Amino acid sequence: MSDLDTFRQETRAWVQANCPAEMREPMRDESDACWGGRDFQFKNEAQRRWMEAMAERGWTVPDWPTEYGGGGLSPAETKILRQEMARIGARNPLMSFGISMLGPALLKYGTEEQKKRFLTEIARGEIRWCQGYSEPNAGSDLASLQTRCEDKGDHWLVNGQKVWTSYADKADWIFCLVRTDFQAPKHKGISFILFDMATPGVTTRPILLISGNSPFCETFFDDVKVPRDQVVGEINKGWDVAKYLLGHEREMISGMGLGGQTGSLGEAFADVCAGDPILRADIARFDVDAMAFRAMSERFIDELKVGMAHPAQPSMMKYAGTELNKARHELVMAAGGSDALEWESERSRKGKAAREWLRTKANSIEGGTSEVQLGIIAKRILDLPGA
Ligand SMILES: Cc1cc2nc3c(=O)[nH]c(=O)nc-3n(C[C@H](O)[C@H](O)[C@H](O)COP(=O)(O)OP(=O)(O)OC[C@H]3O[C@@H](n4cnc5c(N)ncnc54)[C@H](O)[C@@H]3O)c2cc1C
Repeated sequence: MSDLDTFRQETRAWVQANCPAEMREPMRDESDACWGGRDFQFKNEAQRRWMEAMAERGWTVPDWPTEYGGGGLSPAETKILRQEMARIGARNPLMSFGISMLGPALLKYGTEEQKKRFLTEIARGEIRWCQGYSEPNAGSDLASLQTRCEDKGDHWLVNGQKVWTSYADKADWIFCLVRTDFQAPKHKGISFILFDMATPGVTTRPILLISGNSPFCETFFDDVKVPRDQVVGEINKGWDVAKYLLGHEREMISGMGLGGQTGSLGEAFADVCAGDPILRADIARFDVDAMAFRAMSERFIDELKVGMAHPAQPSMMKYAGTELNKARHELVMAAGGSDALEWESERSRKGKAAREWLRTKANSIEGGTSEVQLGIIAKRILDLPGA
């Protein structure tokens, strides 16, 4: 048996022994997700046990180095772990912007001290992070951001406003883009800074959506004092860190294309399709696209792990994955008929189908809009003239 076969056998046995039965059931909604953080209340004992068991082995971040709380697994071993978790339907033990966004940026740009401190906390789910990029006049044109960060000798002083900050009211810390040079060309005066959301001068105001949910906030900084050692990378070179992190964010968002535990629509709606040949053809076409996306996604992750992915490939994946997810939920609504429009009760076939469908409308906005991704693909991958 090869080393990888042995690893698979041991991993299968460990996951089987340690993943509680409740953590193998599909997540019903957002409240089933474990986000960690200072104030996080585990939904039940099973959720706590699963997160702690995985963190103990470094398997919340299996491919990070062990000295920063990771599992130290190779790309091939990491893939086996994911496959073995998927085999039993094990939930992700820890959802975290720290894992999917900040961690990779710290691994590349952080100081040794920053890595030891922040990566370890992220791996254990101790700190919940939010992302302070967008501002009222800086979304697609992110480099126009105006949040001011002044050098006060022994600390930085931050003033300004962010918007659409997902979960800012629940986060412990923020990774934030600030302007440190107002004279330089706009991409060259930006720095990347980390600070505690409990620092005096930080306030958040939830933004209410039509669904009644408040998943994001306006975030205000009034004379926020930040310790000097909390800038990541060089001063005024934060744009490099920001772009690198965005690639990882887009990779994470592209995962929506995989559809979580929704599975094949053809199987889920076999009975509805039997009486509706047009819907059946649409769903069949969708399922083929979904299979193609899955294959493309696996190849992309493999290439990424060994450093062979094109730097703009996350834009392609994000565009494809989010368009696919939107198409999936359009079809779920079509197949569900008028029952799927139900708002309050759980009686409709997929429960909450309408809310999930409406949520997908944001997929092609968050992490950079589809139009912006198409612009990047045209310019950096297709090398089109004038792009
Ligand atoms: C659910 C959700 C969660 C989010 N979470 C966060 C978060 O946690 N932190 C954070 O910082 N931000 C977050 N955002 C903000 C998100 O990054 C921005 O909404 C996005 O980058 C677009 O910026 P904007 O909303 O200012 O739109 P604008 O930039 O004003 O764009 C308006 C329209 O113009 C188009 N457009 C703009 N520029 C171009 C161009 N060059 N070429 C072609 N078309 C163009 C856009 O595609 C769009 O259709 C979130 C957004 C959503 C929807």
